[in-house]
Amino acid sequence: MDILTQIPFSLDRDALLKQAHLELESDEAEEFRVLMDLSLKVGKPKAAYTVSFIERKDRDTIQVGSVSFTSRTLSRNLASAERIFPLISTCGHEMDAASPTDGDALKEFWWDLIKTQMLFAANQHLTDHLHQRFRLGKTATMHPGSGDASVWPIEQQRPLFALLGDVQKSIGVTLTDSFLMTPNKTISGILFPTEKDFRSCEVCHRDNCISRQAPFNKHLWEEIK
Ligand code: SF4
Repeated sequence: MDILTQIPFSLDRDALLKQAHLELESDEAEEFRVLMDLSLKVGKPKAAYTVSFIERKDRDTIQVGSVSFTSRTLSRNLASAERIFPLISTCGHEMDAASPTDGDALKEFWWDLIKTQMLFAANQHLTDHLHQRFRLGKTATMHPGSGDASVWPIEQQRPLFALLGDVQKSIGVTLTDSFLMTPNKTISGILFPTEKDFRSCEVCHRDNCISRQAPFNKHLWEEIK
């Protein structure tokens, strides 16, 4: 496993205030800025990845070493791939340890917005690192639990973590019995070379999702169901 801990990040303060629906000159904006200042002192976003090779694949299953994944969508997306990059990015456990919110729901919401920006910084840094180090061309990523529940079931976090190794020790991320990760602002998945565009939103039926990045793809859905 390779670990990235020196991840530069800054905060887009105005974007955060806008996301929190705060007036720039308000007292609440000033309180939020205090949290931003604190986060810049304590935050340590991190990422880890490994390089794995597919040993066997069929319509529904991918075998990687002693681990197998069951997902028709993953199998379809990896049809021409041999090498994959299991990965994980996180805002860093230091943000939970230093949380100044004291159970205040509004401050918890603001702190989570900051953690999300740190997670995005970690994930972008990791993606850039992989592309530069391995001279990758076009890639896509899949995450257990993204898209409809059947696409790549969240239970497959367990084999993904088995491939990654001891991420609790290396970057402080833990997997709960219900397959969620702590810190909550953490992303796990597999990055792979591909010629085809793919986004999990294409195989997600959820209506009115503010984070949707691509429309539902009926043709693709028919192909994988
Ligand atoms: S539409 Fe929303 S819930 Fe569905 S995969 Fe995209 S971001 Fe996730």
